[in-house]
Amino acid sequence: MEREILNPLENAQLQIKKACEALNLHPSIYKLLKEPKRLVEISIPVKMDDGSIEVFKGYRSLHNDALGPGKGGIRFHPNVTADEVKALSIWMTFKGCVAGVPFGGAKGGVTVDPKKLSMTELERLARGYVRELYDYLGEKIDIPAPDMGTNAQIMGWMIDEYMNISGKSDTGTFTGKPIEFGGSKGRVEATGFGVAIIARETIKKLGLKMENTTFTLQGFGNVGSYTAKYVQDMGGKVVGIALRDCAIYNPKGLDYEDMVKHLKTNKNLSNYPKADKIPLDEFWELNVDVFIPAAIENAIDAEIAKKINVKLICEGANGPTTPDGDTILKERGIVVTPDILTNCGGVIVSYFEWVQNLYKHFWFSDEVVARQEVAMVNAFNDIWDVVEKYKVTFREAAYMSSIKKLEEVMRLRGWIQ
Ligand code: GLU
Repeated sequence: MEREILNPLENAQLQIKKACEALNLHPSIYKLLKEPKRLVEISIPVKMDDGSIEVFKGYRSLHNDALGPGKGGIRFHPNVTADEVKALSIWMTFKGCVAGVPFGGAKGGVTVDPKKLSMTELERLARGYVRELYDYLGEKIDIPAPDMGTNAQIMGWMIDEYMNISGKSDTGTFTGKPIEFGGSKGRVEATGFGVAIIARETIKKLGLKMENTTFTLQGFGNVGSYTAKYVQDMGGKVVGIALRDCAIYNPKGLDYEDMVKHLKTNKNLSNYPKADKIPLDEFWELNVDVFIPAAIENAIDAEIAKKINVKLICEGANGPTTPDGDTILKERGIVVTPDILTNCGGVIVSYFEWVQNLYKHFWFSDEVVARQEVAMVNAFNDIWDVVEKYKVTFREAAYMSSIKKLEEVMRLRGWIQ
């Protein structure tokens, strides 16, 4: 095998290319979609608590806005690069199509380890990001949200900074805000809840039952932890979780509430007493039904794809499978529900939040949950129909159906012939 593609931008471009070829689209469509419409690169000076100045690199990429304003999170992570942000913005375009929300794709990021900053430094960084990018953001231009390393509090600082500059109450410019200030009920849980719904629907199609299904996860952050909660609520059993350098495993099941309680006092799951600590090598070979990557890109490369011992993979993270990894999984008959379908619950409830902000009318929690459930099941069924009709993988189906939708809109808008 040649060099593995590990650059997420190359991975995203390859996915678009394959779908354009499968649909026999004019080469100009690929040209239009392979690069973002714009990438803004900024330097954010931050006064640190000790009086020194640090300058952080930040980005915002707007990939395509045919369907509506840009939408996508802001990532604070030491590995953030321009290419990663571009790839993530591409995935957001297709995720929006799959989710059926009227948004284009965008993404932002800052190259920083947020755990190394104090709260006051983090706040100054968040506000600095908004000041530098103010002209490119807006509730009808480009709407950020949380992603890896950011959360509702950071969105709270960001929207405050934005409104200080605009002088208007345009709270719909950010989603994933605190509920007390314009946020939507159900947004924090939305991505994990959606992952569990997609897993449940796929399990049904595979002729399995949630009650007899075992799961492993990678990551226990926002997405991983809420996925574990809802999988457990739906009757599934989470038996293992991969962390950064090791994994925890208990064949009898890991209880969500108990792990959250442990994390509150210990800050770390690797010393969770009701599970065995196992090396990652052993984790990958565990014989379970479903694996849910919910952490980083490129988690399932060719090597892991060869040894992973599962029937189904539901991608909670963005871009967790390399193209080579994907080919091997396909050859091995392992079903994969792709990120742009599996984790679209976040952007669905972000859409609900945006609507609530524009109307200044807020929904009850059960309304949000019920609407998300319907939206996710519809998105799943649409992709499933393509899987059945064309005998393709879920990923191929998700790209084919979203690129088709985008192509139609771009044609109607006169962007292409
Ligand atoms: N960051 C999330 C994602 O990758 C949410 C994006 C949003 O809500 O705009 O889907």
